[in-house]
Amino acid sequence: RLPTVAIVGRPNVGKSTLFNRLVGKRIALVDDRPGVTRDRREGEGQLLGLSFRLFDTAGFEDEDPQSLPGRMRVQTEAAVRQADVALFVFDARAGVTPLDEEVARWLRGSDTPVILAANKAEGRAAEPGIFESFALGLGDPVPISAEHGEGMGDLFQALLPHI
Ligand code: GDP
Ligand code: MG
Repeated sequence: RLPTVAIVGRPNVGKSTLFNRLVGKRIALVDDRPGVTRDRREGEGQLLGLSFRLFDTAGFEDEDPQSLPGRMRVQTEAAVRQADVALFVFDARAGVTPLDEEVARWLRGSDTPVILAANKAEGRAAEPGIFESFALGLGDPVPISAEHGEGMGDLFQALLPHI
């Protein structure tokens, strides 16, 4: 059985872009059942010869912002519980937000190992956000660009001990 990787993080940080890059065309399932699994997608991820089951978590784009943290928490914790490793993505151009800090708090309380991925890291605009993210208490950030395919070697190195 393949090891399982869950991509988590607040909306708009690039989770689905990363999912699509790692899964390519091999998308196994689009799950549109109502409730906490809504929009959850699963596929077989491939990275430099590593294979794993990859889960993307929902977008929540149309949700009431008041209820967002609660809904995110339910889905994030369910995804992370079932995973061998969590890939926590944040937007390094936007910097660390209060919602990122909240997600980090949930993840620090979980038994699942976490890789902190600083996405949108192409160019210099991401440098302050990468620096800020050391304070999340989840280890060293791995700068990546899901859109441009940068940092995939470092992401591979970070995943390797866990899968
Ligand atoms: P999700 O809500 O976390 O799944 O985020 P999406 O994958 O839908 O991406 C949100 C937005 O960020 C889209 O406009 C993407 O094109 C953009 N995006 C994703 N990855 C990158 C990246 O590496 N660099 C930049 N500059 N934009 C990105
Ligand atoms: Mg998405």
